Amino acid sequence: MADGQTITCDALVVGGGIAGLQAALDLADQDFSVVIIEKDLSIGGKMIRLSKVFPTLDCSSCITTPKMAAAAHHENITIYTWCELKQLQRTGGGVQALVTQKPRYVDQDKCIGCRKCEYSCPVYVPDPEQGGFCATKAIRIPFSNAIPQTAALNPENCMLCGKCEKVCPTGAVNYFQQPADFTVEAKTAIIATGFAMTPVQDKPQYGGGTVANVVTALQMERLLAPHGPYNRVLRPSDGMEPDSIAYVQCAGSRDKSMGVPYCSRFCCMYAIKQAMLLSGALPLADITIYYMDIRAFGKGYEQFYQNAKAMGIQFIKGKVGHIESGVNGSVAVRFERQDGEGITTENHDLVVLSLGVYPHWSPRGICSVGTGDDRFIHTIHPSIAPTLTDQEGIFVAGAASGPKDIVDSIAEAGAAAMEAANYMLSLS
Ligand SMILES: Cc1cc2nc3c(=O)[nH]c(=O)nc-3n(C[C@H](O)[C@H](O)[C@H](O)COP(=O)(O)OP(=O)(O)OC[C@H]3O[C@@H](n4cnc5c(N)ncnc54)[C@H](O)[C@@H]3O)c2cc1C
Ligand code: SF4
Ligand code: SF4
Repeated sequence: MADGQTITCDALVVGGGIAGLQAALDLADQDFSVVIIEKDLSIGGKMIRLSKVFPTLDCSSCITTPKMAAAAHHENITIYTWCELKQLQRTGGGVQALVTQKPRYVDQDKCIGCRKCEYSCPVYVPDPEQGGFCATKAIRIPFSNAIPQTAALNPENCMLCGKCEKVCPTGAVNYFQQPADFTVEAKTAIIATGFAMTPVQDKPQYGGGTVANVVTALQMERLLAPHGPYNRVLRPSDGMEPDSIAYVQCAGSRDKSMGVPYCSRFCCMYAIKQAMLLSGALPLADITIYYMDIRAFGKGYEQFYQNAKAMGIQFIKGKVGHIESGVNGSVAVRFERQDGEGITTENHDLVVLSLGVYPHWSPRGICSVGTGDDRFIHTIHPSIAPTLTDQEGIFVAGAASGPKDIVDSIAEAGAAAMEAANYMLSLS
């Protein structure tokens, strides 16, 4: 990308998660030209990082990778990753976005994804793509099915030894690469910036980040994934196969002190999904879910919940107050039972926190699209047109407007693409 370049297209999609990819594909299939701007090193969003998906238990990367590839190879779609959106505004008859492409210190046009740089790099760092459970290098391809398959060097970890530059067969490593600013001019835009999880440290009484065997649900997705860090489920502190695993629901949701007073919607279902996958992976393990309410609202979800109960997963209605280290790496969970039996402490080998969900991106200072009290993108007719923002010609899809599972995110992406297409046709 040359600094100062202007790109024109029909539709700009901000965010390359499942919602952004679906919206882009739906528009591109109707012959509209689409540019996707993605903040991360790869497209795919959260879904490419999941193990299997409820309620079908399909392999998540088996579904997501073809969509990522279809978008990457579509003649009407151009994807820019590792980008920062600086401004998004309405101009005349369309929208204009100012974007900065951050340096990867690797020339994307030259990199052939051979990984020789990664293998030769002497610096080991925790791999963020594997929940920090195993190591990666200071220069790396982010993960095996990342798109694009381009290496990126993290200057915070690099010690400038020069080894990667020496082994690269195409001369792609460039320690002096600079950020490049570019402009996208489009007729319409779809915001699909998705969600983030509340930081574990924000609820210190739950031991996240301090008690070794308390992990997040996203980390558990990696432990359960076929290409996970250990290829099996082991607890992080000592590599032991856990015999007793507990889930703590609403560990950040429905909690005003966390800034997330609302229900995060998909945590009950992913906890049930992970519990079912765990009982397959560790048939002798006891699995307990501590919950306030189970919200199994989608098609087939109640049956999924009932199936989990039938498999022997224990559901305890109770509010967890405190989690701390127990003996021999165990984790003590103190909770108040809702059946009147009072306050109890149970020990588990591993505890998973179902954290709260909040918006990944805030338009403040970047775009005049409004947000609601919950900080998600405000939709002006949530019950009849959930993809319309308060800015004409700018639409929203997926978890950017509120926590949403994959089925709803995909359905909404199709609706946003249709609204955007109609809007573009109305301009001509
Ligand atoms: C542990 C866990 C397990 C789950 N399991 C399931 C399941 O089994 N089944 C199910 O239906 N749902 C599941 N979900 C929910 C699922 O992850 C979401 O429904 C889905 O990811 C929403 O897709 P999205 O594209 O809206 O958002 P995301 O997946 O968050 O994608 C948003 C994309 O936008 C990018 N982005 C953000 N800000 C910017 C910016 N400013 N500029 C450019 N790009 C930006 C992000 O980097 C990301 O790539 C699970 C969620 C979690 C946390
Ligand atoms: S220069 Fe940096 S990234 Fe390259 S091999 Fe050395 S430490 Fe690794
Ligand atoms: S930067 Fe060079 S060595 Fe590294 S993956 Fe790309 S082509 Fe291979």
